Amino acid sequence: MQVSYDRAVDCLPDDFVAQVYRAAGRSEVRDAVVKVYEDLQREIDARRPRCDASGRCCRFEEFDHRLFVTTIELATFLYELETRDWPPREKWNGAGCPFQVGGLCSVHPIRPYGCRIFFCDATAASWQHEQYERFHARLKRLHQELDVPYIYMEWRSALRALDLPELAQSQFSFDSTTQAGKLSTV
Ligand code: SF4
Repeated sequence: MQVSYDRAVDCLPDDFVAQVYRAAGRSEVRDAVVKVYEDLQREIDARRPRCDASGRCCRFEEFDHRLFVTTIELATFLYELETRDWPPREKWNGAGCPFQVGGLCSVHPIRPYGCRIFFCDATAASWQHEQYERFHARLKRLHQELDVPYIYMEWRSALRALDLPELAQSQFSFDSTTQAGKLSTV
């Protein structure tokens, strides 16, 4: 989940929302992302890193890390979020991930790549690092192959930029004075 392989943007492009929606509407984009997730799941099933389902990794401030996503992941997530029925979410208090409800992920089937690869199992750290690099590189290549602008951005900044209803009243803003992906409350 942490940025260590790629520098995230510290300012989203003006046409960011249009780019995400355009990509979300393309089935070949969504299919390609789902294929990456399926292949990753096979690696996870083979390695079986431990997950205690504590939900701590989604409480970013507590865990002291951030989730970053690419354009096509966000587009796929957005499409699935808007075209499927989901249980109602609690009002977001501005901390952690807005999709964590009662300690669990309310969008588990469509969660982004960073959520899928992250395990707090210390014995899986090097495996996780390798897989992150490998699958992230594949996601990055797909942007070029599918002619979608590659943007690597912090999760909640991206959600807010998309003005998802649940986030419209969020208390987050991007801190442009810090390094990429740093959020600050206002
Ligand atoms: S999308 Fe789900 S798994 Fe990912 S950070 Fe949010 S609640 Fe956690």
